[in-house]
Amino acid sequence: KNILNIKDLKVQIDEKEILKGLNLQINAGEIHIIMGPNGSGKSTLAYTLMGHPKYDITNGEIIFDDELINELRADERAKKGIFLSFQYPEEIPGVTVEEFLRTAKTSVTGKFQGVMAFKKVLKEKMKELEIAEEYAARYLNQGFSGGEKKKNEILQMAVLEPKLAVLDETDSGLDVDAIRIVAEGVKRMHNDKRSILVITHYNKLLEYLNPHYVHILLDGRIVKTGGIDLANEIDEKGYEHIRSIYSYQ
Ligand code: ADP
Ligand code: MG
Ligand code: MG
Repeated sequence: KNILNIKDLKVQIDEKEILKGLNLQINAGEIHIIMGPNGSGKSTLAYTLMGHPKYDITNGEIIFDDELINELRADERAKKGIFLSFQYPEEIPGVTVEEFLRTAKTSVTGKFQGVMAFKKVLKEKMKELEIAEEYAARYLNQGFSGGEKKKNEILQMAVLEPKLAVLDETDSGLDVDAIRIVAEGVKRMHNDKRSILVITHYNKLLEYLNPHYVHILLDGRIVKTGGIDLANEIDEKGYEHIRSIYSYQ
């Protein structure tokens, strides 16, 4: 079953066209990877999917779960089951991981999450992800390592149970531990109803994830779709080579 169908999507920021006719289809339960050189429009795609108001859709359709969502606000899309790890301040003084996640769950489901009931759910999710119990009581991002921030992202995904999770890992400067946390988290969270789109240039992450499809985003379009072999080709030959072959297709 198709979960995301993007047709001829064009997106502008401040009247500059960034996405120039992008097509992408994702079925339920699939893991997709998007790779592409800096400035090709990867983060623009992620923010556009989430409904960030700064990104102006001038053409095309975003169909999520059989529904056109072009005009929906970010909170409405989140309620329908699209997840993009929230952007939040480096540290939120006095807010624990548990409180943050409970608030996020209340906001996405529209249902108040009682303290005790949520504690129980969170405990189960953390067990599933092999995250130590003490983590829930830590203050959000205070003294967190890169890996601990990633744990929070994965835990958010586990708690919110989206149909489609979009993880933009391009600029995050992940160390080996963080890459492993993301990869294992994604694998545990992925199932036949949950699709995952990971934007990355980390080959290690790609190998761990073993995606169904790898796409190359170049100058605002997906110019090539393949498997892991495509990622290896980029690794060997670089994007300029890919550009010279595929940009006129
Ligand atoms: P990527 O994530 O692939 O590196 P981005 O989507 O961040 O690429 O950016 C694509 C293009 O859009 C770049 O040319 C960048 O300079 C431009 N861009 C990104 N964000 C903004 C913004 N907020 N305002 C203006 N231009 C932007
Ligand atoms: Mg960038
Ligand atoms: Mg980016």
